[in-house]
Amino acid sequence: MRIDIITAFPPLLHGPLSESILRRAQEAGHAEIVVHDLRDYTHDKHRTLDDTPYGGGAGMILKAEPLFECIETLQAQRHYDQVILTTPAGRVYDQSLCKQLSMEEALIIICGHYKGIDQRVIDALVSMEISIGDYVLTGGELAAAVIVDSVIRLLPGVIGDGESMLTDSFMEGELDCPYYTRPPSFRGMNVPEDLLSGDHARVRKWREHAARTLTRQRRPDLLEDSSRNAPERKKK
Ligand code: SAM
Repeated sequence: MRIDIITAFPPLLHGPLSESILRRAQEAGHAEIVVHDLRDYTHDKHRTLDDTPYGGGAGMILKAEPLFECIETLQAQRHYDQVILTTPAGRVYDQSLCKQLSMEEALIIICGHYKGIDQRVIDALVSMEISIGDYVLTGGELAAAVIVDSVIRLLPGVIGDGESMLTDSFMEGELDCPYYTRPPSFRGMNVPEDLLSGDHARVRKWREHAARTLTRQRRPDLLEDSSRNAPERKKK
């Protein structure tokens, strides 16, 4: 899968893209993630990216010309399934949209900044607008990192132990269960007996029950959805 991210602030993406699973996914050839500096698509002496909004008011707007040039240059090189804009006005991101995006071959993600981007870019070139939640970020870079991270970890072969991804929250319409590791007793707090039993069926039963209880307490809405859509929870 290929993802091109367009940003006025490339360094904001360097950390998230160059560590842990995202780094390994790129090194192993599962994903190609390319960050484009919007300033490379400006042509004036000051490499101007933004301008004041028509009608006045506070804040700057990312100009249409560099965004058009960058996106059209990319589209001339290959087909993109979606041109995504990160914006609070978009569809609220969730695991179902994440799964949908993970099946695509190539994506462009545009990071807005300041007050946003010129509407003509959205009207002419953007196919999907995504919000990562009802709050306002300084720029779309962190939203792009969230989308890229959640999509890439779903690609086949990216997570070594595939089962651990399949039993994550939301994959089967429930939250994941609690986990413990050594020691079995710590400051008077003991690991549940079932998990220490070495009996796989008992462990699976405990986990299914714990996941269902947690989901019922915290996110009953997921159970309503899953009773309509999801199959049985996968074995752990
Ligand atoms: N004026 C915009 C509004 O109120 O909707 C907010 C602009 S915000 C300061 C700058 C950029 O951050 C946006 O253009 C967008 O790319 C990104 N952004 C902010 N909040 C976001 C969110 N919840 N989800 C996705 N992107 C967001």
